Amino acid sequence: MVVKKIGESLKDQAFLLRSVPYGDDHRILSFLTASHGRVEAIALGAKKSSKRFSGVLDFLHCLEIETQVPRRGGLTQLLHCELREPYEGVRADYEATIIALKWIRTVSRVVPEGQSVPGLFALLQEGLSSLAVYRRDWVDVVFLRQLLGRLGFLLDLSRCVGCHRDRAEAFYFSPEEGGLLCEACHPGPKIQALAGAIPADFWERESNGAGEEGDWLRASRAIFAAGFRHYLGVDPG
Ligand SMILES: [Zn+2]
Repeated sequence: MVVKKIGESLKDQAFLLRSVPYGDDHRILSFLTASHGRVEAIALGAKKSSKRFSGVLDFLHCLEIETQVPRRGGLTQLLHCELREPYEGVRADYEATIIALKWIRTVSRVVPEGQSVPGLFALLQEGLSSLAVYRRDWVDVVFLRQLLGRLGFLLDLSRCVGCHRDRAEAFYFSPEEGGLLCEACHPGPKIQALAGAIPADFWERESNGAGEEGDWLRASRAIFAAGFRHYLGVDPG
């Protein structure tokens, strides 16, 4: 928990996570900052005077923000906001934009106000940069895998977590065990997740999505989504 002192100001890089209207002319904003975790602030007159924030208050922008806790008390105020990185390559691509907006929504749901998740800001920066360059569905599963890892739920899909075999007739995802179980280790009703385990280096080099790698992309996406639902009660979309 970040303790806020009266009059204290904060300058940091940030991504906008959430923006809701407040009264006629203001907005309550939530940011994921580089060094201060999730921060909430009110943008006074945000609707009328978009010039005040240079029209940059948008999702998928990396921003430089300055906030201050008013001396008379009340909500932390956004004083200043500048664009650091617009991620034009993502914004120019509809599919990449949809993926990135789902990430922002998921991050917004798993990080409460005042909380900080080490490495999360850098993960989002890296993910957005990669989305404009590499195969999108691969970048998406790599991001979701790492986001789960940052939140304490890194899933090993390279072998059975029970007997450590990396070859089996079929593998099944077990949220309780935190990974895959082979035919022999999985008890009770089964929903097959994978025909073969996913080698650990799949996450390190860009996939071409061909053959079994296409299956890995689809299957791992479904497994990570199930992980988000099971561990965090959040559907990553
Ligand atoms: Zn096993």
